Amino acid sequence: MTEALPTVVMASANPDKVEEIAILMADVANIQPRPADVPDVVEDADTLEGNARLKAVAICKATGQPAIADDTGLEIDHLDGAPGVHTARFAGENATYADNVAKTLAVLKGVPLASRTARFRTVALLAYPDGSEVVAHGVVEGHIALSEAGNGGFGYDPIFVPSDGRNQTFAEMDPTTKHAISHRGRAFRALKARLS
Ligand code: IMP
Repeated sequence: MTEALPTVVMASANPDKVEEIAILMADVANIQPRPADVPDVVEDADTLEGNARLKAVAICKATGQPAIADDTGLEIDHLDGAPGVHTARFAGENATYADNVAKTLAVLKGVPLASRTARFRTVALLAYPDGSEVVAHGVVEGHIALSEAGNGGFGYDPIFVPSDGRNQTFAEMDPTTKHAISHRGRAFRALKARLS
């Protein structure tokens, strides 16, 4: 008889991320959605790991089950690593994906391709009810394109070109190709390796 997979509750309510993470973790955990009645967590830590911990611990406490969270930052070298921990609200508190993309292209206007280097960094964190945790990191190097390309993915995908792709933005790739090299794919594969 096959052993049942452990139940893990997703701390994120972002459907774009939930879909990616559910695929990445499908063979090691029975992933459950974030309960709708748990209030949003204020992500006010000053590191990605701190924010991932805030989210995972809050859902773990609310449900009594292990909970998994991730936090991602885009680091642009020309901006000394910004927006980093502020990636979701680069263009303001209620910024949409389109606002953030527009702001990024505006602040890099006139900056040549060679100076547009950037990376996505993800911290994935699994928090257990006994207070223990497993943390893993994933990074993908690349650059910010001169203009948007592609309709897939979400967030900054239309302007991020990973170095180990075929000079396409993440938004031009199918999800499997993106997961194979993405920050989130790498972080969750590293987390899985730590679990097995
Ligand atoms: P979060 O804090 O992990 O939700 O990520 C912060 C922000 O980073 C999101 O609001 C997105 O704009 C952006 N982001 C996260 N992951 C990705 C990705 O895989 N592609 C493009 N943008 C992303």
